[in-house]
Amino acid sequence: TTILTEQLQRHQTDPIIKDEAMNTWFTGADMQADIDVFQEAFKANNLGKGDQILVCLPNSAVFPVINQAAWELGIIVHPISPSTPTAKLHADYEAHGYPALFTTPELAADWSTDEWSVSHLDLLTSPHLTFLVNKEAAKTEADTTPVSATDLGLVMNTSGTTGEPKRVGLTHEMLLNAAQNDAVSNHMDENDVAMVTMPMFHINAQVMTTLSTRVSDGKVLVTQKFSASRFWKQVHDNHVTWVSVVPTIVSFLLLNEKANAAYDALKDGIHLRYIRSSSFALPEERLIAFQDRFGAPIIEGYGMTEASSQCTINPFDAPKIGSAGKPFGTDLCLLVDGELTNDHNVMGEIAVRGNHVITHYMDPNPDSFKDGWFLTGDLGYLDDDNYLFVKGRKKEIISRGGEKVAPAAVENTLNDLDFIEQLAVIGMPDDLYGEEVTAVVVSTTPGLNEAEQRQAIFDYSTTHLAKFESPTRVEFLREFPRNITGKVLRPQLREQLLMVGEEK
Ligand code: ATP
Ligand code: MG
Repeated sequence: TTILTEQLQRHQTDPIIKDEAMNTWFTGADMQADIDVFQEAFKANNLGKGDQILVCLPNSAVFPVINQAAWELGIIVHPISPSTPTAKLHADYEAHGYPALFTTPELAADWSTDEWSVSHLDLLTSPHLTFLVNKEAAKTEADTTPVSATDLGLVMNTSGTTGEPKRVGLTHEMLLNAAQNDAVSNHMDENDVAMVTMPMFHINAQVMTTLSTRVSDGKVLVTQKFSASRFWKQVHDNHVTWVSVVPTIVSFLLLNEKANAAYDALKDGIHLRYIRSSSFALPEERLIAFQDRFGAPIIEGYGMTEASSQCTINPFDAPKIGSAGKPFGTDLCLLVDGELTNDHNVMGEIAVRGNHVITHYMDPNPDSFKDGWFLTGDLGYLDDDNYLFVKGRKKEIISRGGEKVAPAAVENTLNDLDFIEQLAVIGMPDDLYGEEVTAVVVSTTPGLNEAEQRQAIFDYSTTHLAKFESPTRVEFLREFPRNITGKVLRPQLREQLLMVGEEK
């Protein structure tokens, strides 16, 4: 935390973070004033080292302020989605017993005041924030022993793409190492202005965008959430130099008419160094279309909550389209037939290790670790030049009569068909083969021509795919179940189709 503390001292009168909703830049002195308010409140309630607080708030400039206030005292911050259903929030609370919680006045109204002392903190970065302290969990004395680099700083939930989200505990040194890797690999410096478009309860906004910018002395603009129609104006008006996005955002910007018009009107004042994309594979033709249309290069990286941020990133001077780039500050190898290997051009489960990667989950999950390596559950290979190609997830592999089908490969091929707006290939239960390769399609002409489009998929598969990987079933949906970062929730999709089957 010394780095962060010193940074505020150096920049007492310089703007550091802007809250878009409040239309205000906050200086180092402003942030320090809020940190003092938080720390007084922590101390008054005997909160100290090792205590975990829940932060359940929409995006705002208060996030890095809470972090710094908490970290200096060894308090652990667990940000969670403000749209978490209240029943789930209460259940989480019961299970883990957090002594305190920051939330909105609306959500706070739901907590019984008998058990909780409710207060309002007078803050610059967040005028409407409610602080709840559990009276039963309250301690008589806070642990004030010195904070060490190996103490936990953040608890983050994974995105819950493959099942229930997992709780990941990240230490101060892991967070700092990750942020420094990001800053160096992305050539960040004090001239950069980064824009947060993703939720602050995800690792991407917390570390890749905010913490990395703070350790490299740049500025951060925090937006409530991504808006295609306002994106280019936000970039233009705030001199934004880079943005970390998910592939869905790239698609929205390309397709949205207002975004296109805004770009044309403002482009002379837009100076984006690059757009960073991760979270899931960005279709190659979309990456090229974006670069052609909007000028800014797209740099793809690959990371995960368990690694505090990214593990690989494309070198700026030699990006490879379709690749997630090269390992940076991370050891990366592949698990093939139960053995870890450094061989190139072999497909296996991606394994990572390093001073920013966890060695255990907070809840037991031993299958995810081998000899000190974290097994990501992702499949891929390294090419001759050590560039990583991510090819989907182990859990998504379809097993059809003993043959293994990787959905990503089938999706890539079928995406050539121009009536396909969105596509997911999944395995559905089948009596004969165990699983049946099923293409689920959101069509550009919803409700129309489904029979022809189904036939077109079968025909295209015959000529472009092996027989075992060709879909034998095609279903149409109006939209896919997706999580907040836009990832398709395949378990839910499967369930949805099973229910359709029963209704028939
Ligand atoms: P859960 O672990 O709860 O199922 P999740 O894995 O989606 O959810 P995150 O930690 O937010 O949760 O996401 C990390 C995952 O995102 C990676 O393991 C990988 O599957 C995917 N990912 C990240 N970057 C890329 C990329 N460039 N290409 C393909 N997949 C990516
Ligand atoms: Mg995961």
